[in-house]
Amino acid sequence: MRKANITNWAGLLVAATIFVGVGAGVLWGVQRFIADARYVSHTNEVIASVDAFEARLRDAESAQRGYLLTSDVDYLVAYRSNHEQLQPLLDRLHTLVADNPAQRARVEQMQQLETQRLEQIRGNLERYRRGGLEEARAGIDDEVLAVSSQIRLMAQQLIATERQLLARRDQSSQRSALTLRVLAVIGIPLGIVLLGLVYLRLLGEMRRRSRAEQRNKEAAARLQQSLAESERHRSGLAELTRYAGLLQNSHNADEAVALTTQLLSRLLPGSGGTVYRIRASRDYAEQLAVWGTHVVDSQALVPPEHCWALRRGQIHLNSADEVAARCQHLAAAEPGSAGQLACIPLTAQGVQVGFVYISSTDPALMRRMELVHAAAEQLSMTLHTISLQEKLRVQSIRDPLTGLFNRRYLEESLVRELARCQRRGLPFSVLMLDVDHFKTFNDTHGHPGGDALLAALGKLLQAQLRTEDIACRYGGEEFTVLLPEASVEQASARAAQLLDAIRALRVEHMGHELPAITASIGIAAAGRDSAEQLLQRADQALYRAKRQGRDRALVDGQED
Ligand code: GH3
Ligand code: MG
Ligand code: MG
Repeated sequence: MRKANITNWAGLLVAATIFVGVGAGVLWGVQRFIADARYVSHTNEVIASVDAFEARLRDAESAQRGYLLTSDVDYLVAYRSNHEQLQPLLDRLHTLVADNPAQRARVEQMQQLETQRLEQIRGNLERYRRGGLEEARAGIDDEVLAVSSQIRLMAQQLIATERQLLARRDQSSQRSALTLRVLAVIGIPLGIVLLGLVYLRLLGEMRRRSRAEQRNKEAAARLQQSLAESERHRSGLAELTRYAGLLQNSHNADEAVALTTQLLSRLLPGSGGTVYRIRASRDYAEQLAVWGTHVVDSQALVPPEHCWALRRGQIHLNSADEVAARCQHLAAAEPGSAGQLACIPLTAQGVQVGFVYISSTDPALMRRMELVHAAAEQLSMTLHTISLQEKLRVQSIRDPLTGLFNRRYLEESLVRELARCQRRGLPFSVLMLDVDHFKTFNDTHGHPGGDALLAALGKLLQAQLRTEDIACRYGGEEFTVLLPEASVEQASARAAQLLDAIRALRVEHMGHELPAITASIGIAAAGRDSAEQLLQRADQALYRAKRQGRDRALVDGQED
């Protein structure tokens, strides 16, 4: 960068020097031309003065000769007039050649010769006055001729010297003109080319700088983004820590899931998510909670084998391109839709408890997957712990004789399951079962025999019912069966099955087979009524079944 600057400055300096040189050269050339012109006129003036001097001297000589030959006084007057003009001409010449010592010496010599010549003329005129023409002629000797020829020689030398000077000045003018032409022809284009080069370099420099600035801006934006990302990560970790603390104190799965959806919707703004929990029957993973809006929808009930995350036990990223590796619980992607679809398994101590499905159009989702994974681990642990606690609680609420749930548990689970089904618009039915003539049975086979039968009946109920059905010992020889998601028709069918099984039940006691028994069942399907009302309705149906002769199942509200 620094080197490029120095080169540019040097280029500008050279271009400026060239232009200054061209300007100075032009100025110098013009001055030379003016000086040469002055010298030319000066030389011409010298030559003209020398010519004039010669002419006056010649005229003076001629006038003197005319007078001598004709004695005409007019010639004498002309001679005097020319004679008077000679000295001013010589003075003028003297002034003109004052700066040239050689020419000055010649003029001074001419001055002497002229004085000498005028003296000769004056002497001749004197001789003419004294002795007439003959006398005057005698005075015109070789010396007179020598002086005249010397004067002419001097005049010629003066003129020749001036002509030489003129020729030299002409050469110098031509040189000046040539120099000016060279300066103009080479200097100006050279200066322009140099300026052009510097301009191009500066242009390149500016482009490089603007590119560098652009790169700097991009780097700053990337830095800003990564700072924002790490800040989000930091706050995400803080939230995760807080979430873990809250989870530890959550009492049930619903609470834990609510905390999770709250956390994930904050950590992944703009995303959609669903938390699934695998049912106790392990046949389906059911939707527990949803947040945001999904890019691609997912089914509410998912068989575990339909989700790759559950099958592989690890995070699965669904791709729009790889149809084969796409979870089956996802709706078909719209053509051209781009989104990140991830399923995260919820596994604790090797047990799968569910999965979380998250979708987003933001590619940043993948960068936050670490946090999601950490949250999923926390949730898995919590759900697992809660389910263990539930198991313990269930164990504590089982009836020891029959192995069925006790009445307290019945009341609790009836309220919960009824509410769940009502919330989802699912059917819900209740069976009330009472062993027929059990008092007599007791009386005949003894209380332990009765107990053996009740224990066998407990096993039968557990074996006959689905995992999600809840069979409880209501009290004595009365049982209640909760059938979540079962319609009245399904409940009736189930009751008929139970009655058949009870009729077929054979119990060994003390080495003897006890006689077969029958039971009566009252059925009630949930509408909008409360748990208590539902039980009452089932009980009324049971009462009606007893009255109608026992060993039957009747639905509450149906005509006899
Ligand atoms: P119904 O057909 O009208 O039901 O006649 P029932 O004889 O069964 O009449 P009820 O239901 O009133 O009789 C219940 C009897 O069940 C009374 C009691 O002796 C007997 N029972 C209650 N709890 C137990 C128990 O834990 N073990 C035994 N062996 N018998 C019990
Ligand atoms: Mg009874
Ligand atoms: Mg009874």
